[in-house]
Amino acid sequence: MIDLKGKSALVTGGSRGIGKEVMLKLASAGADVCFVDLISESTDSIIDEVQALGVKCSFMQLNVADFDQCQQVAKDALDQFGKIDILVNNAGITRDGLLMRMSKENWEDVIHINLGGVFNMCKAFVKPMVKAKYGRIINLSSIVGFTGNAGQVNYSSAKAGLIGFTKSLAKEVAVRNVTCNAIAPGFIKSDMTDKLTEEQKALMLANVPMKRMGTIEDVANGILFFASPMADYITGTTLHINGGMY
Ligand code: NDP
Repeated sequence: MIDLKGKSALVTGGSRGIGKEVMLKLASAGADVCFVDLISESTDSIIDEVQALGVKCSFMQLNVADFDQCQQVAKDALDQFGKIDILVNNAGITRDGLLMRMSKENWEDVIHINLGGVFNMCKAFVKPMVKAKYGRIINLSSIVGFTGNAGQVNYSSAKAGLIGFTKSLAKEVAVRNVTCNAIAPGFIKSDMTDKLTEEQKALMLANVPMKRMGTIEDVANGILFFASPMADYITGTTLHINGGMY
């Protein structure tokens, strides 16, 4: 039902988890997609999978925490695709631990990648979107940015920061038909949550009214909605996808 033919999208952290599912959804709707990631393993097979849907697809290696690399990737993506209409800031990491034990490095890595990375990518892509008078920016926040979570002062700070960032940028660029929205997933099955112990998972699950973990598809559907014409008049908002947790 959603038609994104003629649109181009860039997804950070697109080679696995939520990011990969988003790419497949955007491509199924007809958008050309470019994805970036730290590691460039098995990207050829992902490119084949996406291209089989009849769209253009390319990969670029990128650390979103590196400002200059983001500028270069924007230049290369615009050269390759002509324009980027949809930017999905999905790349993220966790380095969990109680504050009393958390290293300065684990604090900085999470802030620089999860929050700084979104600043870097928006700095690189907002100007051309404003010029084109079209853009759809979607930032991956998290339920813990709203609720807090013991063991995640770094991650929940970055994800809460993204909400302020999203609301502010939305106000700056709305007049140029560029929207900026956030998705706040709850407890979603992916490599990120596979790292949790069975005990931690059971504890989390007990707090999900729907009594199941979310799927990467549940989250990708929300992102597709924000990228689609159905969300043309929605900006500065957050869509919570959490089975009723918050
Ligand atoms: P995964 O850990 O499965 O995937 C994360 C992706 O981000 C990977 O592709 C990884 O690349 C990429 N990445 C990490 N660091 C960098 C970096 N410095 N530069 C570029 N790419 C990077 O995570 P999910 O799919 O579960 O999560 C996606 C987003 O959703 C994240 O922002 C996460 O915080 C958020 N989220 C997830 C929830 C969940 O329950 N899963 C809940 C709430 C929010 P590589 O493969 O190269 O390491």
